[in-house]
Amino acid sequence: MLIFRQLFDTTSSTYTYLLGSSASREALLIDPVFEQARRDAALIDELGLDLRWTLETHVHADHITGAWLLKQRFGSCIALSEASGASGADRLLHHGDRVTFGRRFLEVRSTPGHTNGCVTYVLDGESMAFTGDCLLIRGSGRTDFQQGNSGMLYRSVHARIFSLPETCLLYPAHDYRGLTATSVAEEKKLNPRLGGEADEGDYVGCMRALDLPHPKKLAEAVPANLRCGQPGNGAAAPVDPCWAPLRFTTYGVWEVEPRWLEENLTEVQVVDVREPAEFIGPYGHIRGATLLPLGQLAQCANELVRTKPIVAVCRSGGRSAHATTILQKAGITDVASLPGGMLRWRAEGRCVEGGEHSQNR
Ligand code: FE
Repeated sequence: MLIFRQLFDTTSSTYTYLLGSSASREALLIDPVFEQARRDAALIDELGLDLRWTLETHVHADHITGAWLLKQRFGSCIALSEASGASGADRLLHHGDRVTFGRRFLEVRSTPGHTNGCVTYVLDGESMAFTGDCLLIRGSGRTDFQQGNSGMLYRSVHARIFSLPETCLLYPAHDYRGLTATSVAEEKKLNPRLGGEADEGDYVGCMRALDLPHPKKLAEAVPANLRCGQPGNGAAAPVDPCWAPLRFTTYGVWEVEPRWLEENLTEVQVVDVREPAEFIGPYGHIRGATLLPLGQLAQCANELVRTKPIVAVCRSGGRSAHATTILQKAGITDVASLPGGMLRWRAEGRCVEGGEHSQNR
């Protein structure tokens, strides 16, 4: 079975696609975004996937790719078309190539016009295709910079995307109106620039009349993407907090393992965000923990000592995860949640104060 997730970057309105094989767990990402690499990595870990590839549909002008960052994290291979002119890739793709993940594969179709190096990735069985900025939903990529060529884009769409089965679902690299997917039949009929009776001359005339401002990140993004997203000129990659071996979740919080916490209790401030009755109730609490119920956390965050990292704790891990977001809003950066809360802490036989049948050590 195919594992499929459509991810979105709100800043650049970019879609990133995660495809994986449920049998082998091998996976790939299409068009990852630099600023979203931590989120993408968390999702890959949570789904138990093995990231083999990051693929680019082209050299983007509006955002920097997360390919290089993800390669540092997972050892994944970077692939994009040879015609892109990019350096630093592990594999340069050509029309007709296949990129495999488990028993699945994507077929590479060269679809230039927005840039010379644009490709469309077609899933085996031709049920889905990832069109990059060549074909957008009811639109197309712009053709007024990089190596843009309107006639070429028209021919790419008609020869290599509209030739797919009518039911094939199409997933673009961007959408600015909240639409997520379309189909070959839909775009053939309803795309105002490229569908219906529009011929190449109609399309070229339409594109010539577009008067779009250049993307804000153009000067920064294109050179960085020609290096597959490797920071240049001494610029550093984002640094993860290192006060503990932390794990980031797609919920957006850092978590610390119970074992590490037990071994490092004196190095952190444990904030128990349960209600007072729970703190002294049957589950007990962690030695030295400060009781600060979740409902009072926002008002009382300033009273917490900021010289030590904070680990939030609750019964099962839900309230403590939310607590970390409250503390971060209050300007406390070194903060993590204890996953599984007191339930997991006790199940693992860790040191508890108070409570019933506690295994005080
Ligand atoms: Fe683009």
